[in-house]
Amino acid sequence: MKNVVIITGGSRGIGAETAILFAKNNFHVCINYKSDVESANKVASQVRKHGVDCICIQADVSKEAEVIQLFKQVDAQLGCVTALVNNAGIIQPQMRLDEMSQERINTILTTNITSYFLCAKEAVKRMSSRYSGNGGTIVNVSSAASRTGSPNEYIDYASSKGAIDTLTTGLSKEVAAEGIRVNCVRPGLIYTDMHTDGGEPERVDRVKEFLPMKRGGQPAEIAEAIFWLSTDKSSYSTGSFIDLSGGL
Ligand code: NAP
Repeated sequence: MKNVVIITGGSRGIGAETAILFAKNNFHVCINYKSDVESANKVASQVRKHGVDCICIQADVSKEAEVIQLFKQVDAQLGCVTALVNNAGIIQPQMRLDEMSQERINTILTTNITSYFLCAKEAVKRMSSRYSGNGGTIVNVSSAASRTGSPNEYIDYASSKGAIDTLTTGLSKEVAAEGIRVNCVRPGLIYTDMHTDGGEPERVDRVKEFLPMKRGGQPAEIAEAIFWLSTDKSSYSTGSFIDLSGGL
């Protein structure tokens, strides 16, 4: 069977490292992104060096029509998806809950939660034996924030990741007998541009002293776990969580 992975938010940070690791292991790769086509194309050229097919698809995955279109393009250009990595996510500038606008809260929740639901829905319709599919894997990228709650910084973001943990638990049981495994990784403080969007580019270096391992993580260290959960190496694992947070 041809191995085809869709990585939402595959153009930067953790998603980009994940795309390259899957390509090294003979997966054909769909890199999804929202707006930064230049970064997506850079990752695609690294992916193609490994001799696999790669397409970049612009889609806001919080919108169902765009998700449906994304999966249809993958069907047509790469073949049926066998692995989904739900990874696209955002934070907004740090603040207390009593300062947050409704618009901000809704943007965080739809980008970080609705998107994972919509992509999982399309993946299940292709992978599940209920729809004559051949099975597959879904890995959800959550966060250690789902456990810490991120007070004074972004409770909205942390709560969105709590929802992803629950999605993982529920969906894993719902489709376990249909050939689909659903697992989750919870990164801690990882060196990516996401912290710039949160208003503090140097956040990892400021906070790392408080971590048991006294260092931030690299995107490649997260990609390894995502990849393991997406392959037969983890064949008896579903509804599982891997915490990659330096002991946090
Ligand atoms: P990043 O470097 O900021 O990259 C975010 C990616 O998501 C980009 O490819 C971006 O595309 C894409 N994206 C954002 N909104 C989107 C949307 N609506 N539709 C489609 N794509 C969208 O982020 P990262 O740090 O690698 O984070 C990846 C995942 O890990 C997220 O779920 C995040 O919550 C989680 N995580 C990160 C950390 C950390 O410390 N970095 C810790 C724990 C968990 P464009 O560039 O085109 O907008």
